[in-house]
Order: sequence, then structure tokens, then C-alpha cells
Amino acid sequence: MQETSNVQAEIIAVGSELLLGQIANTNAQFISGQLAEAGVNVHYHTVVGDNPERLRQAIHQARARANMIIFTGGLGPTKDDLTKQTVADTMEAKLTYDQEALGYIKDYFKKTGRNMTENNKQQALVIEGAEVLPNRHGMAPGMIAATDHCAYILLPGPPSEMKPMFLSSVKPYLQGMGGMPIHSRVLRFFGIGESALETDIMDLIENQTNPTIAPLAGYGEVTIRLSAASKSTREADELLNNLESIIQQRVGDYFYGYGEKGLAETCFERLNEQQLTVSAAESLTGGLFAKTLTDFSGASSVFGGGVTTYTDEAKATLLQIPRSVIAEHGAVSAETAEWMAGQVRKHLHTDIGIGFTGVAGPIASEGQEVGTVFIGLSTSERTQAFFYQMNGTRDKIRDRTVKRGIDLIRRYCLNMTPFR
Ligand code: ATP
Ligand code: MG
Repeated sequence: MQETSNVQAEIIAVGSELLLGQIANTNAQFISGQLAEAGVNVHYHTVVGDNPERLRQAIHQARARANMIIFTGGLGPTKDDLTKQTVADTMEAKLTYDQEALGYIKDYFKKTGRNMTENNKQQALVIEGAEVLPNRHGMAPGMIAATDHCAYILLPGPPSEMKPMFLSSVKPYLQGMGGMPIHSRVLRFFGIGESALETDIMDLIENQTNPTIAPLAGYGEVTIRLSAASKSTREADELLNNLESIIQQRVGDYFYGYGEKGLAETCFERLNEQQLTVSAAESLTGGLFAKTLTDFSGASSVFGGGVTTYTDEAKATLLQIPRSVIAEHGAVSAETAEWMAGQVRKHLHTDIGIGFTGVAGPIASEGQEVGTVFIGLSTSERTQAFFYQMNGTRDKIRDRTVKRGIDLIRRYCLNMTPFR
């Protein structure tokens, strides 16, 4: 039996609308993510139009460099749907009617009271000898046709049909191939760039076998998925623990959690656990911090409230920051950030106050460069400002500023005091 890790897959997305730029190839993205998780290498993505000759060429090329080809699209009833005919031709196999799929299609037409055409009947044609994958969300069945050299997996184009079919039929097939279920663990990091993290664990990535390591890109957050193939959960856990502890030794300072939970949700949970409350005074973030925390239901247990104090006047009147502080140090300064945090905490009677001031750009202001950010953090013990120099667009700077603030609060909750 073939080991899962020896599989080299290629994804061929069929459809002229992909080449015309009318739709994005999200099927390949989804399938690649799933294959990475299953420890299957994907070496190529190919996109080809609804043209039998070019599809034939694409299949020949893929066969020379892959032992698994996953097709999406072109399984439907119309004339331009020619994936299965073309695959069958190149395999020198015939198409036959699958009785179950035919029954399903007939039933569907009976139920909806519509007339079944010869075209619809053709949707039940499958490659002879193939494993037929039922389509619970549409009519065209998928199939897996395996030869000694290559497994051909044919899936429908609509993501609403392809995804459930992949999860219910292809995933178990992949697991069955190596005889090894895949156990994965997702580690989430913040405050380290994706490339810096990759550099720090490059030797582990380069020498990966079991578990495998797949870095996943995220907006300002970095995520890696460790996948261990093992028959026993206990052995898989051991493999994952060993690798994780090496990773934690190197970049553990940036680690904040496991699984699907993002930074904001993690911070929200920590605040709840510690029964701490926060209030915010926002300048450059314009309320984005308040929005982020109030995205979670039950936010009133941890979020006291916030003010958007964009101008000097608002800072002076709403927060009662002495005008002399702003005049002397400027609105974008460590002193103003500290006052914002301290004053909002005082007025809203929360455990933590946070203040955001900076230059989001694109035009420099207050005599400060674009991307200059000060975040004030105020607690009963201390009030301190943190300075950051950020890059990127206005949106990115604002988004990262909020995330930085959230991370400061998260660290405070964990007693990983951010104060220096
Ligand atoms: P149908 O039975 O609906 O005709 P099909 O299997 O023949 O399905 P296509 O005709 O190739 O598939 O595509 C149907 C629709 O599925 C496209 O219009 C598009 O919306 C979506 N689709 C197809 N390929 C992709 C892809 N690679 N990524 C995302 N969406 C896709
Ligand atoms: Mg179609």
C-alpha cells in the first residue's frame, strides 16, 4: 500500500471562466489546504479551459509529474462539460451508467416535476471501474479512478458540491491510502512576521517527515499546522508534543493559542477568566478596538466602553487631558498615549485602560512619520506607553495597532506582564 507522504498531487481546475478572470480558483485553494493537512504534497496547480485537446495535454503533462490528479469542474450536463470523457479517453477506459446516480437523477426530476433530458441522463455516466462519489448537493457524481500509476479524482465545479464531496469521500480515501489517520494541531502566533518565524524553524521545515509542518498565512497573525500520521492517537500526540516543544523553545514568546481561535477571541477569553474589564480611548484606530472587542457576544462583561478622541480638542474635553501635555509633547507621543489610557480607565472605572495614538497615513502628521504608533496601557499598578514603528497602508497600520493593543492586554491577563 502506498504511503500518503509519497503521493504527489496536481490539481487541474477545468473551466474557461477561470481563464477569463470571471471567477477565482477557490477550489484549488480549498483542496490544497485539505491535502496539506493530510500530508499530501501538491506540486502543481493547473487551470485549463473547456477545450478537450488542451485538457488532454494538461492530463499528459500532469501524469508525467504526479501520481494523483484532482480535477474540478466540467462534470455537468452541458456540452462544454468534458472532463470525464477526456479523462476516460486518456485512460483508455469506457464510460458506463452508474445505476445509483441514474436513480438519484430520475428521482430528482420526478420530485421537482420537471422533464429529464438526455443531457441530464449523461450526468450518471462514470468511468468504468471507478469508485463513484455520491453528490448530495447536486446531480453530477464524482469519481476516483485509480490505475497502477495514477489516481484520477474527479469532482464537480460548484464549491457547494465539491467541498462536501471532498470531505465525505476524498478525505477518507486519502487516509485509507497510507492506512494512517492524520492528527493535526494548529499553533497560532502573533508579533512575529511569517518570514521571521519560518526562518527560525527553517531546519525543522526542511527536514520534516512525520509530523509535517505547514505554515498558513493570516492577516497579521501567523499560524502553523503540524500533522502527524499515526494509527494511534497516543503516538500521534507524542510526535506532536515533541515537535511542538522544539518550536515553543524557539518562538514560544509569540505563541498565543491553538486551533481556530484568533487573537481577539483569545484575549476576550483571558479577560473573562480573570474577570478584568477594559476601556479604550482611540485616536488613530477610530473605534476599531471597541468594534473588535464588541464583536463577541457578552462583551459587556469585559468591555466598559470607549471614546474616539480624534482631535486635540476631544482629547482635552472628553478625556480631560491637560492641554499642556498635548502642547508640550504632541498628540502623537508616549505622554499623550499614557494620559489617554489613564483617563479613560479613571472615567469608566475599569481595571485596564488602553489608549491609541499615532499616524495611520498616508500623509505624515504631527511632525511624525507614517506608522508611528504609541499605545498606552494603564492598570492599577502602572501606566506605560509602548512605541511601534509600523509599515503598510492606512488599513494595515490601524489593524495591526489594534492587534498590538489586544496582545498587550492578553499578556497582562496572563501575568506575562508587558510592562518593562
Ligand atoms: P455543473 O453541473 O453546475 O455544470 P460542473 O461540474 O460542470 O458543474 P462547471 O460547469 O465547470 O462545473 O462549473 C460550474 C460552476 O462552479 C462555475 O460557474 C463556478 O461558479 C464554479 N466553479 C467551477 N470551477 C471552480 C473553481 N475552480 N473554483 C471555484 N469555483 C468554481
Ligand atoms: Mg458545467
